[in-house]
Amino acid sequence: MSETGERIVLGVAVETPQHAGLAACLDYKSEQMLAPGTLVRIPLGKRDVAGIVWQVGSAGAAAGIELRGVRQVLAALPPLSDAWRQLVSFAAGYYQRGLGELALAVLPPELRKLDATQLERRLARLKPAGPAPGNDPPAPALSAEQAAAVAALLADTPATHLLHGVTGSGKTEVYLHAAAKALAAGRQVLVLVPEINLTPQLEARLAERFAGHHLVALHSGLTPPQRLRHWLAAHLGQADLVLGTRLAVFASMPRLGLIVVDEEHDPSFKQQEGARYSARDLAVYRGRLENVPVVLGSATPSLESWQRAEQGAYRRLSLPERIGGGALPRVRLVDMNLQPRDNAGAAALSPPLLDALRTRIARGEQSLVLLNRRGYAPVLHCGACAWKSACPHCSAWRVFHKGDRTLRCHHCGFTERVPRACPDCGNLDIQPIGRGTEKLEEQLALALPGARVARIDADTTRLKGALEVQLGAVHAGEVDVLVGTQMVAKGHDFRRITLVAAVNPDSGLFASDFRAPERLFALLMQAAGRAGRDASQATASEMWVQTWHPRHPLYAALRTHDFAAFAASQLSERESAGLPPFSSLALLRAEAKSAQAAAGFLHAAAAAAAGLTESAGVMIYPPVPPPVARVAGVERMQMLVESRSRGALQRLLTRWLPELHALRQKDKTHRAVLRWAVDVDPLAI
Ligand code: ADP
Ligand code: ZN
Ligand code: ZN
Repeated sequence: MSETGERIVLGVAVETPQHAGLAACLDYKSEQMLAPGTLVRIPLGKRDVAGIVWQVGSAGAAAGIELRGVRQVLAALPPLSDAWRQLVSFAAGYYQRGLGELALAVLPPELRKLDATQLERRLARLKPAGPAPGNDPPAPALSAEQAAAVAALLADTPATHLLHGVTGSGKTEVYLHAAAKALAAGRQVLVLVPEINLTPQLEARLAERFAGHHLVALHSGLTPPQRLRHWLAAHLGQADLVLGTRLAVFASMPRLGLIVVDEEHDPSFKQQEGARYSARDLAVYRGRLENVPVVLGSATPSLESWQRAEQGAYRRLSLPERIGGGALPRVRLVDMNLQPRDNAGAAALSPPLLDALRTRIARGEQSLVLLNRRGYAPVLHCGACAWKSACPHCSAWRVFHKGDRTLRCHHCGFTERVPRACPDCGNLDIQPIGRGTEKLEEQLALALPGARVARIDADTTRLKGALEVQLGAVHAGEVDVLVGTQMVAKGHDFRRITLVAAVNPDSGLFASDFRAPERLFALLMQAAGRAGRDASQATASEMWVQTWHPRHPLYAALRTHDFAAFAASQLSERESAGLPPFSSLALLRAEAKSAQAAAGFLHAAAAAAAGLTESAGVMIYPPVPPPVARVAGVERMQMLVESRSRGALQRLLTRWLPELHALRQKDKTHRAVLRWAVDVDPLAI
């Protein structure tokens, strides 16, 4: 394409490196008028890269420079919609990332590589839309509460709804009915789930119910060509349903009619690197933008969503009972202060819990024992010289894994064989301290001779397909006692489990992170939801909690399955402490070879903010190290920025961040900072 005679100037979103600042778009010349949303290939430096036409007319970022021309137009692809571009613009602004960086990052990586001819070939190979619509099998009749929820969801004025109901109360059935209505109206449905592990089950259920429709999955577990195909099917309107993890919130769906966010409280909806967006929050934004209903479902909603429902910003829909009248498991607290102690201070498994497990085994029922720490023991220790298995690269202990006899750092991955003797004094008797799932499995096997004990955690499921095999064994009844981390507490439908036990959950009560109690409560409620899903056994199902603090209000609320009471007490604590949802937070993080360099940058950042009028009404706290300050030899520091007003915080960030980009250029001392980033609405502080 010649570069002469090109009179039209276009603002194009391009993936520019972060140090280029937050420049929205770069200007290019074009011979033809291109609609915003059109995918193009453009020169950037010496490279040829993908871009998205963002606006007709100059974006102003390259004023005074001889403009280069658009190289190629990927005209076979219909332009991305205005709504899609607005969603991306909003997300880039709110989470303080470059527009082009975000816009291109949320496209399938494969799409960014294709030229016009390659794209045309891919499009030609796309299967036409699935089977003819209208062949879906019949759905069960809804309960009165479910019917009311579906009716409210599909009311004339689309709104955001918080669907609150325990596991088994029929939430998914509400999603399915609402989805069926949207599909019947010719619309597309977007369903977001927190983790890939949880997609196969829901995918099977959706595929069965909507056999007459075209369903695609969008998550990071797909191969790049699959992800491209599925994305294209959604973008071309061929796919009726898109089921995906957080990245799917950016799926281009021209006929979008309903958004479902299942397990809306789950931390996995927040991206933890790059653009740290919350897919749950963006789903709500997108619903408003596209005027479609959004349903956020959970047994233990996030306190942010619960508070919005309390205020009337979201409509609350409740499913108070389990379908089929299944009772919720009885919660039994074991007061560990009253249990016999062994030489480690306390027996891992209390006698009453072991008795209860034996009874279940004798009855041919399954139990689930939860411990949120994998490996054999969190640290190895030498009694002679006090050596501990510290990671040389992190401020953390290396975990002892007995299975492959390694010491493994769970932060940087550094792994070594377990030493035969203490590396410092040669003592042969080095001891594990504490316990992880591996040791718990061993202890259970010892205490319950003849029982079939199995374990599922990130270590046992590293190989592709391993999780499915292990879950299959549990479902087939080949396991009596299943040991697992939170991985198994979520989502899986274990019909034959009648007892769930949390052996050591107390750490969540007093953790420094203000969201720890919320997480613990959600985990325990979710775990309790694993038990007694089979109504015939539900009356006998139990949730056991071993605790040193049996009178803690969190456990009192758990006992009565009273989320509302728990939420009310947490919210009043948050309100008096000025924490979210009563304030908005951002976290500025810096990483450097030394803690001083990281802190120095944050101090300079705070000084820069103090000079801005936008800092009024915003509190900036002194830099502190995060709980694990050093990872892989890099020191980390963080600084909390807080305001009662979300708007005030946003205005400050928007003015402040460009100054921070400049800071490192201006002042040589800050070159020691390897990376810095801002996390808006951080999950953990
Ligand atoms: P949740 O998503 O809240 O865990 P589900 O929608 O999965 O609940 O429902 C729990 C069980 O009850 C499922 O097996 C589901 O098929 C069944 N179920 C839900 N609603 C109905 C209904 N209205 N009639 C019959 N069975 C139902
Ligand atoms: Zn020693
Ligand atoms: Zn490490």
